[in-house]
Amino acid sequence: VFPPQPKPKWLRVKLPTGQKYTELRGLVDKYKLNTICTSGSCPNMGECWGEGTATFMILGNICTRSCGFCGVKTGRPEEVDWEEPEKVARSIKIMNIKHAVITSVDRDDLKDMGSIIWAETVKAIRRMNPTTTLETLIPDFQGNEKILNRIIDVAPEVVSHNMETVKRLTREVRIQAKYERSLDVLRYLKDQGINRTKSGIMLGLGETEEEVIETLHDLSAAKVDIVTIGQYLQPSKKHLPVKEFITPEQFAKYEEIGKKLGFRHVESGALVRSSYHAEKHIH
Ligand code: SF4
Ligand code: SF4
Repeated sequence: VFPPQPKPKWLRVKLPTGQKYTELRGLVDKYKLNTICTSGSCPNMGECWGEGTATFMILGNICTRSCGFCGVKTGRPEEVDWEEPEKVARSIKIMNIKHAVITSVDRDDLKDMGSIIWAETVKAIRRMNPTTTLETLIPDFQGNEKILNRIIDVAPEVVSHNMETVKRLTREVRIQAKYERSLDVLRYLKDQGINRTKSGIMLGLGETEEEVIETLHDLSAAKVDIVTIGQYLQPSKKHLPVKEFITPEQFAKYEEIGKKLGFRHVESGALVRSSYHAEKHIH
């Protein structure tokens, strides 16, 4: 049993301010947009929004999966909103987003697993925002290549799929997923010509240094371009506990190891989230 850990000082952030942030915040409230930044109370909102980056979540607010770390509700999802692609594209235009990150809940209940809405969303964003670059943070789509091809065909600049944790903890952290299957998805994306592939892991769930390094090796072998490594924070008491707060020095060590392995970008730090500094990853 691990007692609750007090938050170390490097996890405390300043409240977001700045004109661009205030402007975006107003728009999001007014148009009732679904962003992970607000619903996940992300600590980086001030910085990301100030730079014109935001993460939108599509296909509803209810997920068919029940990962132990994730704050999204599990259950029977709502009906698909076929106007969603247009709505997201319009929001990106209104918010003048330079780099948009799109993610979704998992829709294992749908025959196409939501991939048609995914592809239509990318197309609508391109149509309405020709200069906006795009990152799609996708589910594993159960490793189904035909479904993955729908994303590959619309060619987002970056396609991400998160491993979330090391091999040994995958069952506990994301019960319906498989470590090897996620690696296969990443490898397939790269082999099919995606320009930049990306994956992220959270630390502090009880993994060892050796296991983190093993995961970095596996990602490198799957030809992943960009890796993000951040601190896991417990969304509520019902979620997996934080077993450890990783020190800034340890994050720096993983960054060094990642760079030596040849990744194009490695973001490693307590506040790093999958979409943190996302705009830098397209280059
Ligand atoms: Fe939004 Fe991601 Fe930035 Fe957090 S890190 S504010 S979720 S874009
Ligand atoms: Fe959360 Fe994604 Fe897991 Fe669903 S599949 S519970 S949205 S992490």
